[in-house]
Amino acid sequence: MRQIQMVDLKSQYDKIKNDVNAQMQQVMDAASFIKGEKVATFQRHLENYLNVKHVVPVGNGTDALQIALMSLGLHPGDEVITPTFTFIATVEVIALLGLTPVLVDVDRETFCMSPDAVRRAITEKTKVILPVHLFGQNADMESLRAIAQEHKLYVVEDACQSMGSHYTFQNGESYASGCMGNIGCTSFFPSKNLGCFGDGGALFTNDDALAATIRSLANHGMEVRYHHDRIGVNSRLDSLQAAVLDVKLAHLDQYIAARQSAAEFYNRALTDCDKITIPGHQPQSTHAFHQYTVLLHDLDRNTIQAKLTAKGIPSMVYYPIPIHLQKAYVYLGHKTGDFPIAEHLSQQVLSLPMHTELDEEQLNYIVTSLKEALQ
Ligand SMILES: *Cc1c(COP(=O)(O)O)cnc(C)c1O
Repeated sequence: MRQIQMVDLKSQYDKIKNDVNAQMQQVMDAASFIKGEKVATFQRHLENYLNVKHVVPVGNGTDALQIALMSLGLHPGDEVITPTFTFIATVEVIALLGLTPVLVDVDRETFCMSPDAVRRAITEKTKVILPVHLFGQNADMESLRAIAQEHKLYVVEDACQSMGSHYTFQNGESYASGCMGNIGCTSFFPSKNLGCFGDGGALFTNDDALAATIRSLANHGMEVRYHHDRIGVNSRLDSLQAAVLDVKLAHLDQYIAARQSAAEFYNRALTDCDKITIPGHQPQSTHAFHQYTVLLHDLDRNTIQAKLTAKGIPSMVYYPIPIHLQKAYVYLGHKTGDFPIAEHLSQQVLSLPMHTELDEEQLNYIVTSLKEALQ
């Protein structure tokens, strides 16, 4: 059996090596490393794939979130509602811009932000709802969009983990993840669903005016060269990364299908196991399974992980501390008990190996070993 890894980027690369190398070689031969033709080509291909009007490639997913918030004309003290159970970047950019992160709890089944909690958190200062499509599944966008419309709020989606998933509204309209709100943000970090060989990210929007602002913000606030209309940043996807991404985009549906079939295998094998809960399903969303994350039932997670490690099976905890209990965010004034679901999840979630290259032998071995560990 091949060694089991949390993420196996090497085996994935081996299968597309010739294509990737040839595309990267073209960039090097053209010596066009920044704002090259490859970036424009990838941008166009991704716009088609997502069926969105504008993709703006940037340096990473965190920058994408920051630039999204910078583009909305917000003022210091304006409130942005976001889940406390997420990766730090989501909240970090809100705080960095002098905006106020208003944290809310998540849904017990889907681990995504709870619309009821959002409703309760709205004040006169609320300007943005920032859902995170955690682990590859879209949040309850039907409810969140309705709340946003009712209160005239912007919706910025953190789609860093959900590239390749879709959401269908009750009216039958179906959208790619990140293309339902005013702006969507994604990351091309190597281990993400669509990953490059370094850092990369992008913003999505169907709004022409916002797209122009976003492009300018990502390029030193400039539209006409050396004329700076606003205070911007320097954030761009380089041509070598775009070359890799353009090759991988052609395989993305197949990559998502591979993740989904590994998840189905786990689900079938673990559904009857009364010591854990398999990932819950948001009925209007497909799941891209960036992570396959189970919930342990009051078990000692360290012991389970140690037993798996002893069998050569890696596992990870995303995320061990919710944002409201992180040292850097003490100033928000929260305490243990404020967000009980997120706190419970942070104690009891466990992510199993999940990537595009898992085979049946490995999956069998993982579930058998996990069941033993749970005894
Ligand atoms: C990865 C990730 C980010 C940040 O993306 P980077 O490209 O690493 O900056 C933001 N939010 C979530 C939920 C992520 O998973």
